[in-house]
Amino acid sequence: MSSLDFRFLRSLHVLQALPVLILVTLFLFLQGCSSLSTTQRQPRTGSEEEIRALAKGIHERALTMDTHADISANFASEKDDVGSPENKRQVTLPKMRKGGLDAEFFAVFTPVGVRTDSAYENAYRNAQNLFDVVHRLPTNYSDQIDIAYTADDVVRIHKSGKLVACIGVENGYPIGTDLSRVKEFYDKGARYITLTHSDHNQICDSSTPRDDEAKELYGGLSPFGVQVVQEMNRLGIMVDVSHASKKATLAALTLSKAPVIASHSGADVVSKNPRNVDDETLQAIKAHGGVVQVVSLAEYIKTRQDSPERVAALEALRKEYGLPEGRGAGARQAMQALTQEQRAKYREKTAEINAKFPRPQVTVQDMVDHIDHIVKVIGVDHVGIGSDFDGGGGVTGWNGADDAFNITLELVKRGYTEDDIRKIWGENLLRVWREAERVAREIQAAEKH
Ligand SMILES: [Zn+2]
Repeated sequence: MSSLDFRFLRSLHVLQALPVLILVTLFLFLQGCSSLSTTQRQPRTGSEEEIRALAKGIHERALTMDTHADISANFASEKDDVGSPENKRQVTLPKMRKGGLDAEFFAVFTPVGVRTDSAYENAYRNAQNLFDVVHRLPTNYSDQIDIAYTADDVVRIHKSGKLVACIGVENGYPIGTDLSRVKEFYDKGARYITLTHSDHNQICDSSTPRDDEAKELYGGLSPFGVQVVQEMNRLGIMVDVSHASKKATLAALTLSKAPVIASHSGADVVSKNPRNVDDETLQAIKAHGGVVQVVSLAEYIKTRQDSPERVAALEALRKEYGLPEGRGAGARQAMQALTQEQRAKYREKTAEINAKFPRPQVTVQDMVDHIDHIVKVIGVDHVGIGSDFDGGGGVTGWNGADDAFNITLELVKRGYTEDDIRKIWGENLLRVWREAERVAREIQAAEKH
């Protein structure tokens, strides 16, 4: 308070001063609230260098986790050496080091197939193989990375100076109809299972069924899906609702005794897409203590209007190869019916169109808009980062593990504090993981009595 203000107050009759004092108190109180409020962050002031230096310190101190990266059958072998600086993958060990990305969930991914025993068997073998692939990391790069089986492992391995690998199963389809496989996947290191993928499976409805599928099969979870979620709770595997339909998500939330995650999804209000989470679902995830890990697949981050030239060129190409519209079984069959050379030529021509008529850019700022929205609606305790790298991408400024710092920088610019950023980059996810572990201990202890 300046002396001028003081003289002003002293000159007033005490009764006149009272309302002023009340107003001043109220103003100061509201000021205090707004600095605590999650909705009132102010853009950081200061020079570009000052802001970068601040962000750099925060980024180094934070434990940074990404909850979704895809792998290949050759991943972490000589054919796909993730220790090589030459490797073009979005997530490699040198790129994690360069970007300061400390921990990554590698996805044991299987696409949805038909619901027959033999198809489940094939998917199960594929999943077994991909588990072995992730386990090659600590074998082939023992001085650089280790696998975490608990939330405490993540912290311990990080402290030892190594990178951290965690395992998520994208799509419960390879469980087939054999509930004992949930435990088998747990024993191999799975700490989340994404209930389904781009089609309905035996567990629940998908948010993006194929054009030739019914919109919903169960209106949420199947009876087997209910058992799967309960078994995941019993073991301490996080329930992942990314890719699940809204009804399936809400059903899983109601059923699950532990908080759930969306390992790689955006906010539907920011970019309308069935793969993203709407505000009502966000509220439900918050009410159950869960977390939404914001995806970095350009398609889900921003709705883009393609130029008429691009649309026309792609349409002409589709017709040239006799491919039907949409992504139903017809489109897949038509693509499979092409010869290998035709497919190669088709891809080449698509790449030419992409170069000539590029899509509008999607940037790290667009991605952070999703974080902002989720923070505004449900608070900073319920948001994280799940890129979907090597299965997607296309976001300028966050297009590989080596870009991780850009997210911290953008968050700092928008006024997020170090505490906020640590939560977003990993603490929220670790909190949910620990809660899943606690619930599992509780269920298992009750079973013994
Ligand atoms: Zn996915």
